[in-house]
Amino acid sequence: MQHYCCRCGHHPLAHGVPEGDTHERDYCSACGYVDYDNPRVIAGAIIEREGNLLLCQRGIPPRVGTWTLPAGFMERGESVEEAAQREVREETGIHAEILTPYSIFSVPPTNELYIIYRARLLEWNDPPGHETLTVKWFRAEDIPWDTIFYPAIRQILERYIDEHAGGTYGIYSGSMDNGTIHFMR
Ligand SMILES: [Zn+2]
Repeated sequence: MQHYCCRCGHHPLAHGVPEGDTHERDYCSACGYVDYDNPRVIAGAIIEREGNLLLCQRGIPPRVGTWTLPAGFMERGESVEEAAQREVREETGIHAEILTPYSIFSVPPTNELYIIYRARLLEWNDPPGHETLTVKWFRAEDIPWDTIFYPAIRQILERYIDEHAGGTYGIYSGSMDNGTIHFMR
């Protein structure tokens, strides 16, 4: 919580439902400024190369050594596709082409929205960034399921592998509860 109003400097901010609003928020009782705290977007990608899927091994806490998909917070001024492409590049060193949305899911307890795209390798000339220990292409049968921390990521990978056999991919939307995504179909 901010203690001073960033518009007029009044101290402290109040907490409650501002007049005419629908949700509790921090707001300034002097000038009317409202400190909106809306969900944050995390963009990422599943990248496939000849049936192999790319995973990153985390190099920074929490959970150093576990494997996951490249993903991270969207920045101001970029599109969500640009964010996914940038996160892939920062975490893996790979320049990827973003194809279509694959999984869109909200995580109400942490106030986050994940948008995971399917993507295709264009170029790979750079090493992974400092947040990543290593990156590796896995065949479906070699994926280290026990060291993928997020059940939601395991769910997305399992479904992708199922769909890969048929060559047709859906677009899924859902909400996460206790690590499991409840997709709407
Ligand atoms: Zn104010």
